Amino acid sequence: MNALTPTVSTAVVFDHPEFSEHEDVIFAHDAATGLFAIIAVHDTRLGPALGGCRMWPYDHAGDALTDALRLSRGMTYKNAVAGLPLGGGKAVIIADPKKHKTPGLMEAFGLHVDRLGGAYITAEDVGISPEDMEAVARSTEHVRGTRETGLGDPSPYTALGVFAGIQAAARHVYGSEDLGGRTVSVQGLGSVGFGLAGHLHKAGAKLIVSDIDAPAVVRAIDAFDAIAVDPAEAHMAPVDIFAPCALGAGLNSRTIPRISAKIVAGAANNQLQTEADGARLKERGILYAPDYVINAGGVISIALAKPGSGDNTVRHQTLAIGETLTEIFRRADSEDRSPEKIADEIAEERLAAA
Ligand code: NAD
Repeated sequence: MNALTPTVSTAVVFDHPEFSEHEDVIFAHDAATGLFAIIAVHDTRLGPALGGCRMWPYDHAGDALTDALRLSRGMTYKNAVAGLPLGGGKAVIIADPKKHKTPGLMEAFGLHVDRLGGAYITAEDVGISPEDMEAVARSTEHVRGTRETGLGDPSPYTALGVFAGIQAAARHVYGSEDLGGRTVSVQGLGSVGFGLAGHLHKAGAKLIVSDIDAPAVVRAIDAFDAIAVDPAEAHMAPVDIFAPCALGAGLNSRTIPRISAKIVAGAANNQLQTEADGARLKERGILYAPDYVINAGGVISIALAKPGSGDNTVRHQTLAIGETLTEIFRRADSEDRSPEKIADEIAEERLAAA
């Protein structure tokens, strides 16, 4: 048994702490190519379950199951609040993308997607490229993010949506979406963070930037006349807006007391380390833009792209993230609750009405 072979101690799905009335959980195996995958279809009430396929060298199959269950549920909420006619699903392939990925393995994965008959639509996620999705597309039509179906890299749309979300947050807190002269700390200058910094710079904001990758910081200083800070201190910068665009769990009991911004709005997934951290932000009077609402531009581009028809629809729906957040912020104020709770509630209302 090699290190990637799932152990037989895979947690029982129905008793799993992340199980949340998932409709289907498929364990997919192909001996010839070494495929071990889990496909979780969480909810299809709004439409077929769209969610990326992640390839990761999990140490234990139980960790892969945890990710598949948790991430597929997250996609249900994200797609619902984004107003997409889609449910939520996710696939994880237990493999090291640098060592084990082959076109044959991706084709075998595609066959398992195909067997679900369209209940699940797959796309790229961590460890999976558009080329991999081309291989999947040889086995199934239930795939997005290929040259034929997609607009390419979703990151520019994620950045655009985050920018629209920051404008909405500024409107709510300062009474104006004008970012001229506002200061923003952008933590993480990857595909999304750098693009966001570009929008903010164009809108006249002053940028404080940080990344563990020094060349990325130098590029941002040159391109946006930005000032650099240590990435570990990005949340402490004396700014109006903090935009986490690196990793998750950055908002926690240690960082929140030291945030000086009035707004936290960025692209990173799972920004709140625990549920209590949303309440901590609220207690401190900091407006938090729920991560899965503000960073939905990427999934919107994957879901709504139509070959040969440009990106007008995608841009329109991505910019609408600002209006959705405005509704969430207003409702949070009037009900004296935190925005991420309202976002969850809106998703649940849409699902119940479907
Ligand atoms: P990326 O890998 O291109 O960029 C991440 C950047 O963060 C890198 O430059 C990396 O060096 C930097 N980084 C890593 N650890 C850091 C730290 N501790 N402090 C500061 N910088 C650090 O990723 P991306 O596609 O730009 O995504 C950024 C975030 O947004 C991720 O959390 C991702 O899950 C989320 N997200 C991305 C998309 C998308 O369309 N790409 C969509 C939704 C959510």
